[in-house]
Amino acid sequence: MELDKMDENDWKYHGEGNKSLVVSHVQHARVLRLLKYSTEDAENSPKTTDQAFRHIQNIVDYSQNVMKPLLGEKFVHNGEAVKLPLDFVRQLSLKVQQERPESRCDKVMDTLSGCALCLPNLTQLSSCCCCREHRPPLCIEIKPKCGFLPASRHITKDIKRKVCRFCMHQHFKLANGKWKRLSRYCPLDLFSGNKQRMSLAIKNLIEEPQNNFNIFKGGECIYSCNDDADVLQDLDELAQHLRPYFLPSGSLLNRQQSSKVVLHELIQVIVSALLSSWDCPRSGQLRKTHLSEGRVTCEASLLHRDLLRNGNHCLPKDCVLDKILGTQMLDNLDIEGLSPLLKRVEQHLQMFPKERCRLQMDGPYNASFLEKVQNCPAEDDGSLEYAVGKVHQYRVAMTAKDCSIMVAIATCGEDDGLDQSLEIQTTKPRFTCSVSILDLDPKPYESISHQSRLDSKIVNHYLRRTQPNN
Ligand code: ATP
Ligand code: ZN
Ligand code: MG
Ligand code: MG
Repeated sequence: MELDKMDENDWKYHGEGNKSLVVSHVQHARVLRLLKYSTEDAENSPKTTDQAFRHIQNIVDYSQNVMKPLLGEKFVHNGEAVKLPLDFVRQLSLKVQQERPESRCDKVMDTLSGCALCLPNLTQLSSCCCCREHRPPLCIEIKPKCGFLPASRHITKDIKRKVCRFCMHQHFKLANGKWKRLSRYCPLDLFSGNKQRMSLAIKNLIEEPQNNFNIFKGGECIYSCNDDADVLQDLDELAQHLRPYFLPSGSLLNRQQSSKVVLHELIQVIVSALLSSWDCPRSGQLRKTHLSEGRVTCEASLLHRDLLRNGNHCLPKDCVLDKILGTQMLDNLDIEGLSPLLKRVEQHLQMFPKERCRLQMDGPYNASFLEKVQNCPAEDDGSLEYAVGKVHQYRVAMTAKDCSIMVAIATCGEDDGLDQSLEIQTTKPRFTCSVSILDLDPKPYESISHQSRLDSKIVNHYLRRTQPNN
């Protein structure tokens, strides 16, 4: 990519989240992630180019030096902070405006700083030698959210030990008009390691994707949240897209039958990608430690009781879900246990504002930050260092609760008549999958107090909704 020869016609709208807008290159497997800001919130708007660049460089450092060691080399891709010509960014912003969903237009793309994050396009599997990719790659994006029930003794409302945060949050979002329908997805099912529960979790994501599920084909989003949609029609269209990947071309199944088969096959491929141990494929080791400690089912999940009871609650060590869950669980005090420690840090910083730097409250995100996260004492010794360590751990866990998993699937040329020698191997998979994790931004230190308020709002709302007499 030659930064001085950028042409907006080479880029197109790809997607966006709450904080950034992403455009993809029409030929190369690259994306640019540009920050967005709310026009009402001048605080967060970029100030100078240097500040904006440093902000993006901070994201890169955090992803590489903190999240990558915790989540695994395999899953995290390096990005690069870039400075783009302002003219290019302005033209790009005009070009993508009409593609943006209305619900996201409360924020505008930063066209002032010219800074962006350049990343590999994870919806386009890097071509591997064994695949003659005659079919465009598929990519499934899952934003799994928090996969465990908190066990902290600091929790004051018992419901938090029984119903997971995602399921409680659903009721709050519905009441506030964020979504029109409840999702039946429960993260605890996805993270259970039990294939049946995982399959149902993914089925529920497909039926009500909200912003937790997308499917891309050849880099184009073909399936995502659509609040006004006729779900059955959407599912049928999705199945038509998927049919060539999962059913032989001569299949005699009718449209309805094939839809069912195709969606089932898709789910199985996703489950097996999520459970693959990419670092050490030979060791079938299972990690029980995470989940055996606490409750592993959520009372709001609609799964059949027997299935919940019989589930083997373990994830293969080093599979992507295990890595994410382990990182999420760095939040072991819950926001209620963290709040007094946050106060300890805040009081110290009020007295000694310069300490903010030494304690790395806003970075730099380097080996020493990771050291503070990993070597935080297990028990509160009343020290500032303990409080800072827990605050850092909490922020890292927040990032892991908000990231997305990308499962890219390419068909392994079975019927293309090439590579005969490879084809006879009986163990050869029909698909090659690659799994990555994205959206690994540091969560600002200031956002923790917001979390505390949000937590009680969600819990109180849930209690009022479900137990109105108490
Ligand atoms: P959130 O609101 O979830 O915090 P965000 O504003 O931080 O989102 P991202 O999640 O990083 O933004 O990006 C928005 C969307 O753009 C993603 O959900 C994904 O669909 C797409 N995307 C981001 N990075 C890439 C990438 N490297 N390759 C392909 N698609 C990407
Ligand atoms: Zn749940
Ligand atoms: Mg995101
Ligand atoms: Mg994000």
